[in-house]
Amino acid sequence: MTRSVLVTGGNRGIGLAVARAFAAQGDRVAVTHRGSAPAGLLGVKCDVTDADQVDAAFAGAEAAHGPVEVLVSNAGITDDALLLRMPPERFTRVLDTNLTGAYRVVRRAVPGMLRSRRGRIILVSSVSALSGATGQANYAASKAGMVGLARSLARELGSRGITVNVVAPGLVLTDMAGKLSAARRAEMLAAVPLGRHADPEDVAGPIRWLASDEARYITGAVLPVDGGAGMGH
Ligand code: NDP
Repeated sequence: MTRSVLVTGGNRGIGLAVARAFAAQGDRVAVTHRGSAPAGLLGVKCDVTDADQVDAAFAGAEAAHGPVEVLVSNAGITDDALLLRMPPERFTRVLDTNLTGAYRVVRRAVPGMLRSRRGRIILVSSVSALSGATGQANYAASKAGMVGLARSLARELGSRGITVNVVAPGLVLTDMAGKLSAARRAEMLAAVPLGRHADPEDVAGPIRWLASDEARYITGAVLPVDGGAGMGH
């Protein structure tokens, strides 16, 4: 059975790999973007910091594909700085995009899922949520907040057939990782037992699986996809 899937930030990086993974199994996939849609996928324009744009994006996806049955909240940013060099706007902008952005899209998705009494919500967090990271107080706080968001919603929505889970990737080679210094990337790599960074497809597979019928009894989970870097969390 094919499903209506919406991936935020699905125009590049991990989100694009996720969107392609769902499309490859025949699902009807829409991706949000702020510029142009990737080839072969339905694009809906959306900045997740704006609730009206979120609403319009869902309306566009639903008009083409029906109510969203699988939501992957993936859009996110970094804006790294040590605490004393991080003024409030740099803290709140990251929180507003990563955490409140996830809240906005989930809130828009849930009524349709409640009506059909089924749904899959997957939030893309980070290994930094659980370990913290120097220079990432804003980012790590936002990603840790997603865990609390997901677990609360898992409790609220479980009896309605909706699961809410978190994926916590380690270092994935995308534009975002490209912003890290070579030294920081090498340091992170040294902490990965599998000895390599992830490709976006390494994250897409577990997300697709969490949305599958096989994962129907999993909710409120945080699935590390980090090559073992966060072992012990
Ligand atoms: P990229 O920087 O490659 O892509 C980020 C995506 O998020 C883009 O599609 C971007 O859209 C979108 N986005 C950013 N801000 C907004 C916004 N305000 N509204 C809508 N869309 C927005 O990053 P990744 O693919 O690496 O990251 C995807 C997710 O995975 C993020 O949540 C990130 O925190 C998380 N992650 C990444 C890791 C990594 O090592 N790369 C590790 C752990 C987690 P646009 O093209 O318009 O800018």
